[in-house]
Amino acid sequence: MECHDIQAVSHTLRQGLEAFGLADPGAVQTLTRYCQALLDKNREMNLTAITDPVDAANLHMLDCAALLSCAQLSGQTLIDVGTGAGFPGMVLKILVPSLELTLLDSLNKRLDWLGEVCGALDIRGVRRLHGRAEEAGRDPELRERFAFATARAVADLRLLCELCLPFLQVGGRLLAMKGVSSLQEVEGALPAIQTLGGRLERCFDYTIPNTQVVHRVVIVEKISSTPPQFPRRWSKIQKSPL
Ligand code: SAM
Repeated sequence: MECHDIQAVSHTLRQGLEAFGLADPGAVQTLTRYCQALLDKNREMNLTAITDPVDAANLHMLDCAALLSCAQLSGQTLIDVGTGAGFPGMVLKILVPSLELTLLDSLNKRLDWLGEVCGALDIRGVRRLHGRAEEAGRDPELRERFAFATARAVADLRLLCELCLPFLQVGGRLLAMKGVSSLQEVEGALPAIQTLGGRLERCFDYTIPNTQVVHRVVIVEKISSTPPQFPRRWSKIQKSPL
């Protein structure tokens, strides 16, 4: 990123975080460096389709920061399922350093890069897990161990619930990041949510600061244990969604 891009990103993030009531100069600096690392690495590894620095600040960093408007994450455990280049997990960890973050993805190359970013930005206590959610969710070390699960751009909500709800403790919450035209998708997921031990708590719509883009967090509370037959194999989840 050029010097003027770095300044523009930093300014965008400062304004955006202030709009969320999250003014924190240290976080602005770290998020700016993360944005810079993302766009630099994106030249050699496919990490994001967004190549404009200010767009990346808005549509990645501030989009993910919006989760803090609907969830209190200090000191909590959180698994980010299908984290890709670290969204939303890394942004949340930068803004809430006490968060106990686990990043899960089936692509190891992206996790390796995230490890390098954590080292370069001195972000400590991030666990990186290489694997598929539907397999990791059967691992007793991971099953029903987290207070929060997050996911953005991973799967349709019906399928996503089967990937994510097994990770949650009873009383935990899935924060699924969706578009505002997701009403039908949310309604279609209600039987899956119930079968997996969840309950739709609410949808939280927000406008990404500096833009007119409105996105939605679908919040699902886990109210009882997920039956042991879930998650199923991916082919089964796709072929016969709950
Ligand atoms: N969450 C990131 C974001 O919003 O930019 C990445 C989104 S990317 C479109 C989807 C990511 O989910 C990819 O990195 C992919 O490897 C991962 N993924 C998809 N299905 C998965 C599964 N069943 N288990 C683990 N990771 C998965």
